[in-house]
Amino acid sequence: MNTRFFLLTLCVLVVVFFTNTASTPPARTLDVYWVDVEGGAATLLVTPAGESVLIDTGNPGGRDAQRIYQVATEVAGLKQIDHLIVTHFHIDHYGGAAELAKKMPIKRIYDKGIPQTLREDAEFASRIAPYRQIQAERITLKPGTQIKLKALPKRVAKLALWCLGLDQKFADKADPQANTANCDAATDKPVDTSDNANSTVFMMEFGSFRFFDGGDLTWNVEKTLVCPDNLPGEVDVFQVNHHGLDQSNNPVLVKALLPTVAVINNGTRKGCGPDTFTALQNTPSIQAIYQLHKNLREDGATINTQPEKIANMEENCAANYVKLSVEADGEKYTLSIPATKHQQVFTTKK
Ligand SMILES: [Zn+2]
Repeated sequence: MNTRFFLLTLCVLVVVFFTNTASTPPARTLDVYWVDVEGGAATLLVTPAGESVLIDTGNPGGRDAQRIYQVATEVAGLKQIDHLIVTHFHIDHYGGAAELAKKMPIKRIYDKGIPQTLREDAEFASRIAPYRQIQAERITLKPGTQIKLKALPKRVAKLALWCLGLDQKFADKADPQANTANCDAATDKPVDTSDNANSTVFMMEFGSFRFFDGGDLTWNVEKTLVCPDNLPGEVDVFQVNHHGLDQSNNPVLVKALLPTVAVINNGTRKGCGPDTFTALQNTPSIQAIYQLHKNLREDGATINTQPEKIANMEENCAANYVKLSVEADGEKYTLSIPATKHQQVFTTKK
């Protein structure tokens, strides 16, 4: 009799436990994956509602689309890309889009409007053709465009993703922060006439957490973005501009963003420049610098972050990704390299 009573009690407890677990699943994190596209860009955002935003798509040729597809489906559990944003019209950013669209549906595509020609790319008309032909809803970005995302449960922080600007024009801010001290010391470089200077700049906010993705924005325009007013304001995580090349990452921008974490989507021999590294190291707010690749250049400028913060050490790599997970309340976040089991937790700024 006692045994029966015990078993019955146990059954009731098990049922109660599973019913509770089923009715209140743990609040989901906001996840960002930096896919290794060998010095191109492919940043995948997955909201706590399971909605996906891919910013840039790496190069054509099969490799990058396959890597994005693998992270999207096998790691993030996605069946489609809900929103694809292309920051500018260089092949290492839009090149993988058409191939990815053959592997999984892409619902909406946002860009700044496809130009007819590109002065730095004589083959632009033929290279852009597959991207032009992707069947998806098309949205032309403007400074201030908000990406409309699915509503999140009440107990999850508020999420917003918006375009700060493009083609060197930025949305005005209602309460701009003057940035005089930094701006007076800022220097200019020769004018960049490439589409890098026209890159689309995106900001994401999840509760207090803030993330910046400026595509391949270059030096003088980076200054325009933060001088005389600091339009993006401070952030927690900074996707280092332009793969960490020294034509970008003007110290005046880095000091205005004052990030806690910097992530460089470099290649083995692309980006991670010495001046960029100096700018990051001279910014005291930065607690950690992550790289997709160990910098293997032979020109002597082989600066690297600590080995545990590098996703891929070898030339022939396993295409390890860097992951960011922001907790449902936005108050804490974890940077990790799942392949090496490295992870570090950071507290969101107030
Ligand atoms: Zn690029």
